[in-house]
Amino acid sequence: MIAYLERFLHETEPESRQDDDVSTLCGSLELQGTIDFDATGLAAKDFGGTHAFKPLAFIRPSNTDDVARVVKAAARSSNLTVAARGNGHSINGQAMADHGLVLDMRSTERNNFDVRRIDGAVYVDVSGGALWEDVLTRCVSEYNLAPRSWTDYLGLTVGGTLSNAGVSGQAFRFGPQSSNVTELDVVTGNGDVLTCSKSENRELFFGALGGLGQFGIITRATVLLQPAPDMVRWMRVVYAYFDDFTRDSEWLVSLPEGDSFDYVEGFVFVNSDDPVDGWPSVKLDAKQRFDPTRLPRSAGSVLYCLEVALHYRNCDHPSTVDPIASTLLERLGFIRGLKFQVDISYVDFLLRVKGQEEHARANGVWDSPHPWLNLFVSKSNIAEFDRAVFKEILKDGVGGPILVYPLLRSKWDTRTSVVLPEGEIFYLVALLRSTPPNPKPPSIEKLVAQNQEIVQLCCRRGFDFKLYLPHYKSREDWKRHFGNQWRRFVDRKASFDPLAILAPGQKIFPRSN
Ligand code: FAD
Repeated sequence: MIAYLERFLHETEPESRQDDDVSTLCGSLELQGTIDFDATGLAAKDFGGTHAFKPLAFIRPSNTDDVARVVKAAARSSNLTVAARGNGHSINGQAMADHGLVLDMRSTERNNFDVRRIDGAVYVDVSGGALWEDVLTRCVSEYNLAPRSWTDYLGLTVGGTLSNAGVSGQAFRFGPQSSNVTELDVVTGNGDVLTCSKSENRELFFGALGGLGQFGIITRATVLLQPAPDMVRWMRVVYAYFDDFTRDSEWLVSLPEGDSFDYVEGFVFVNSDDPVDGWPSVKLDAKQRFDPTRLPRSAGSVLYCLEVALHYRNCDHPSTVDPIASTLLERLGFIRGLKFQVDISYVDFLLRVKGQEEHARANGVWDSPHPWLNLFVSKSNIAEFDRAVFKEILKDGVGGPILVYPLLRSKWDTRTSVVLPEGEIFYLVALLRSTPPNPKPPSIEKLVAQNQEIVQLCCRRGFDFKLYLPHYKSREDWKRHFGNQWRRFVDRKASFDPLAILAPGQKIFPRSN
């Protein structure tokens, strides 16, 4: 069977293979799921749209046992690799396997959904291939419960975000999604199926969280839940000066739980009427109007928006919600008259990017390339970053949101594989570029070069920063990225995936024979 797989590996035109070849391969693996040679090309695509590596086969496993069989088969071969594909929302081909086997983890998305209570806390067991949007809707509609920590967009898989971290405006309080899981089922690069947690197979547990898929394929995760609120008051306030914006954001994320908002984010926007990058990007509903006459004359090329939200229940009277929101807002130094607010359901708030997705799909922007750049930048360098990057390099915007919001290191477990800047407060900076196909798409090469210019600037100036959702091409760059955690990362690889079969699209370790 391995010889059979390898014969496939050395052929160049997999799409020309006959159906009987497919069924022979499928039969020899004895999978309950299916295997095809990816007629749709889905496994060679991702959201970034700038990388395309053709796999040998696209496999839809039915269960964890299928995943283990595929990994074991690859381990018996001399050069096969295996990539778990969550929802393919990577930017740089991280979920691809050049002439390897790609596992469509979405095909296992319904295998687990059990809510259980342990020592007074409530958890849900979900599949690694489940979409967070489905976890949300089932937890809320069936149990009135919800996970605590999210990403902004929920069309991402549980295993995909846990392999990175998973951050949004709740992470200042609860840490990233990877700090909110207690147990995982993982298929290692040896094909072993292991349950792991802080107390059982702990090195694998911490390794897999933020582990860029290097140590195992997550097939089940136990996620901590809390009671779901009914409603959210969603507010945006505008600042002309970065130091006012950072002072207020840092104050809000440092307040004790219960004294602050439930969600704190922020973004940079262009001081112009540009519909995508400028003033109109701040409004929360079509009826609202951004009044630029409120801006001080000294405002610069870019402005800043602090975005906050407060949870409440239907039974809460407005007289309980209003004073909490206004007491906090009164203490903030935003430009009076540039405040926007809506009240929406908790589920609609968490699914807020879905509407934008539908719009972007309709006008072709969703399927155009997305040369995104995500960074964690230390508080100690964020003001200089603002001066050199936001106000200069990006002063005309990126054709999409430029997120900037503070996170707290103490909410992250440093035993996981994620690497962070030093210091308690650091900022997530996300350049969420889009490249509309009409009238004339911008040059992707130029945008990628601009990303590199920003990264090089950070290196040259000695900023304390890390790439989030990192992408590097050389071993030296990866070593620098992990810094003093590189040794631990290499040791974990040697323990759990010694042949370097898993997640080849990250381009960290070459497959050994
Ligand atoms: P994929 O892109 O399919 O996979 C990512 C990596 O994880 C690959 O190396 C893959 O092999 C590996 N992998 C996938 N599944 C598993 C598994 N079960 N076990 C082990 N390894 C696995 N991130 C945030 O933190 N916050 C955000 O707010 C946020 N918003 C986003 C919005 C959009 C529109 C997009 C496109 C991305 C966003 N992201 C955000 C980034 C997102 O977290 C990453 O793209 C992440 O990779 C999840 O995507 P995915 O499930 O499609 O995984």
